[in-house]
Amino acid sequence: MTKRVHNFSAGPGVLPVPVLETIQRDMLSLPKAGISVLEISHRSKWYIEIYEEVQANLRKLLNIPSNYHILFLQGGANFQFSMIPINLLRGQNAPADYIVTGTWGAKAVKEAQREGEVRVLWNGKDDNFVRVPKQTELTFNSDAAYVHFTSNETIQGVEFPVEPDVGDVPLVCDMSSDFMARPFDISRYGLIYAGAQKNAGPAGATIVIIRDDLLAKIPDDLHTMLDYRIHIKKESSYNTPPVFSVYVVMLVTRWLLNDIGGLAEVAKLNHQKASLLYNLIDESGGFYVGHAQTDSRSIMNVSFNLPTPELEQTFLTEAAQHDLHTLKGHRSIGGIRASIYNAMPLESVQALRDFMIKFQAEHKT
Ligand SMILES: *Cc1c(COP(=O)(O)O)cnc(C)c1O
Repeated sequence: MTKRVHNFSAGPGVLPVPVLETIQRDMLSLPKAGISVLEISHRSKWYIEIYEEVQANLRKLLNIPSNYHILFLQGGANFQFSMIPINLLRGQNAPADYIVTGTWGAKAVKEAQREGEVRVLWNGKDDNFVRVPKQTELTFNSDAAYVHFTSNETIQGVEFPVEPDVGDVPLVCDMSSDFMARPFDISRYGLIYAGAQKNAGPAGATIVIIRDDLLAKIPDDLHTMLDYRIHIKKESSYNTPPVFSVYVVMLVTRWLLNDIGGLAEVAKLNHQKASLLYNLIDESGGFYVGHAQTDSRSIMNVSFNLPTPELEQTFLTEAAQHDLHTLKGHRSIGGIRASIYNAMPLESVQALRDFMIKFQAEHKT
């Protein structure tokens, strides 16, 4: 095998090596089928089995009861920014409430505003998105069509430690960058969506989990491809689904169940990895400055700054010489961002930590 570097990319993110090895095996010829995984029909027995297994694995991992539907759609999380209000806000005599804790939540608001009234309950923009609100800072409206929030803001690296309590109003969550990173109580949610390419697989598939009672809100005259009910009825195969992506998500769920032992286990590993970096940041005497406030820190995306932009550039250059790659922060906030998704090995985080200690010793003023 050609050497693999430490890949801290925010997305598409790192995948588990055993999953990549299975893909490699199946790339030329699937066992029994004799054709490549890239060539096989979504109507084949092989794909139907994959689809059934990924559904079953997700139900097991996330404890999803039968009144929730699991869909694999296309268009990414960005498309859900529109599809959600088209289905759940259009024609409703009520506004939708949004909690904005970073770049992605702000984009979701922009699309929802095209469909109806949006109330922004809380916006972290003026504070440069360094934290999530506490429950006591939020006042929910019982008449809202739904409440939307982003469990983990991938760019700023701020994450809700626990979802807000919104009472009986349907809670809608963009979980793109911490989906399957930790256990959560599905019964508190009306709809969850996640682009696969952060923590669940390659780009191409978007997972949408929707509670049955929300379907009653959907207008009857929607375009076919925009209507969640059609995708449920057609088991995400109304049009050609992203066969390869769904197959890889299935392998990742299998890896989580069999190799890792479920979401409680992976959460332990994720906390361990994140602590390695945050503890170092806290002990660096201000050389490394974390973007997020302590109580809002993400276990998936660790965003931080160095004393000067020039030093950040040197950091990136020298990191790459140590096989530590894609650490550049998003252009909107700069600095450094280490994305340490489920599949990121502990050794890679350890390697980054060792490099950070060495770098500080060599460059502190
Ligand atoms: C990456 C990301 C998106 C955008 O996902 P696409 O699949 O590229 O549309 C939206 N929300 C969050 C939280 C993300 O991390």
